[in-house]
Amino acid sequence: MGYVDEIIELTAKKNADQPEFIQAVTEVLESLRPVVDANEELYRREAVLERIVEPDRQILFRVPWVDDKGQVQVNRGYRVQFNNSIGPYKGGIRLHPSVNLGIIKFLGFEQIFKNSLTSLPIGGGKGGSDFDPKGKSDREIMAFCQSFMNELYKYIGADTDVPAGDIGTGAREIGYMFGQYKKIRGVYEGVFTGKGLSYGGSLARKEATGFGLLYLTNEMLKCNGIELAGKTVCISGSGNVAIYAAQKATELGAKVVTVSDSTGWVYDPEGIDLALLKEVKEVKRARLTEYAANRPSAQYHEGRGVWTIKCDVALPCATQNELLLDDAKALVANGCIAVAEGANMPTTLDATEYLKTNGVLFAPGKAANAGGVATSALEMSQNSERLSWSFEEVDSKLQTIMVNIFHNLDAAAKKYGKEGDYVAGANIAGFEKVVDAMLAQGVC
Ligand code: NDP
Repeated sequence: MGYVDEIIELTAKKNADQPEFIQAVTEVLESLRPVVDANEELYRREAVLERIVEPDRQILFRVPWVDDKGQVQVNRGYRVQFNNSIGPYKGGIRLHPSVNLGIIKFLGFEQIFKNSLTSLPIGGGKGGSDFDPKGKSDREIMAFCQSFMNELYKYIGADTDVPAGDIGTGAREIGYMFGQYKKIRGVYEGVFTGKGLSYGGSLARKEATGFGLLYLTNEMLKCNGIELAGKTVCISGSGNVAIYAAQKATELGAKVVTVSDSTGWVYDPEGIDLALLKEVKEVKRARLTEYAANRPSAQYHEGRGVWTIKCDVALPCATQNELLLDDAKALVANGCIAVAEGANMPTTLDATEYLKTNGVLFAPGKAANAGGVATSALEMSQNSERLSWSFEEVDSKLQTIMVNIFHNLDAAAKKYGKEGDYVAGANIAGFEKVVDAMLAQGVC
């Protein structure tokens, strides 16, 4: 049995109750076959794959907090510090009832390669809790965030582990967590990214993942002789990534016709009205029914269905495993030419395979959505310098980073005879740098 197969089997055996983690490891290792085969003797001796699929440490903790009725609630907190070979652990905090160790591990594992791809000095980690921020009062959110930080502060710091936002963790939650860290540690440092502008945040961080997704998609299309301008785009999700992806796609001349949330989706053949979408989602924090109620051209549908709409470019920006094989078939049947992942692992393995074998250009999340973490690293740089850069300066650096990511993964795919396979290219490019650093630092 080959080294890759052995490690996939070992991972599945040791983590049998973590399907998302097994899925992520399988997807990454499968695509690393050419580079692993070329270095098998060295990698086996150094146990490179065994080391890379095992987090440096996994921290699980109780998060007790008091709700508005005076009732004590208990959630579970997680921080998985996966790999710090090229820099401090870096990755968001996800607050969602579906959170479990397997999901945090899959996200942390993916983060290693994504962070490496940015070319910036950041390692991989992820955290979160099964806490559901929906329907909670501000005071309850603060109580949870403070309790979460009462434990997490022991393990993080500007030079050790720098968390950020993710699903359920936005500006409000980051503010409360940062405030509690500062209070407990008595230091003012860049321990979090995604901070508010008044206390060390970076301009353009809010827009970065969505904008970055479009910079990379645009470059991918351009290198394949295709113009983004004039194309129809389907987007899923209507959160941070989706909103700014929709904005940049529109600015680049495309027409975005769908968005969705966890209860339904909107088809707006006239093109999504961005101001209305922001008002509904960022200001009112309401459902998409509110968008449809205020937009005569929009049709609202319950449940899933975004991928049934005819489009040239599909951008899944909601959550993991939201673009399934049947969705991929519908996209191909409707003539879709490119899929770029704004969310983390939104496309299932069989759907990815189907898209690739049917000639759809496919940009994996770890490259396509790396603009968020790249800008977080730029926030860390600004905090270290104690300076703030202008929106244009950050945005222009982001654009350069995303274009470079595309060229790096394109080159890595070509180097190993996988031209056009951007999944393989992204994994190989991210992996090679991390392994180089691991080997240089010895067995640790
Ligand atoms: P948000 O919480 O802002 O938005 C998530 C969106 O997805 C919401 O519209 C939400 O709907 C929808 N959604 C969540 N779960 C489901 C589900 N099970 N089925 C259907 N829709 C769902 O998160 P972000 O936009 O920040 O993140 C989206 C994705 O992008 C995640 O995978 C995240 O890990 C990834 N990502 C985010 C980055 C960032 O900078 N924000 C950086 C890199 C990756 P509802 O409001 O109804 O819950």
